[in-house]
Amino acid sequence: MSLFDDLWAFQEGRCAICGEPMPKGRFETPHATVWKKKRPNFDHIRPRNKGGSHDPANLQLAHAECNWRKGDNWSPG
Ligand SMILES: [Zn+2]
Repeated sequence: MSLFDDLWAFQEGRCAICGEPMPKGRFETPHATVWKKKRPNFDHIRPRNKGGSHDPANLQLAHAECNWRKGDNWSPG
């Protein structure tokens, strides 16, 4: 089991940010552009530039698009 698979199973294939299902593979999406936006990304719960670590406890899976949107808007609490 990889970390990806662990997180995938834990989150039941859903985005940690918006809660919608994520495609697991490129061929589950109708279009490369959709895949680019919807593909699961590792998201740092606490961003690295806010002191977050690479520890698996600080990682979750989220749509690439949600991850981008989250950007630097993270705030504690
Ligand atoms: Zn999402």
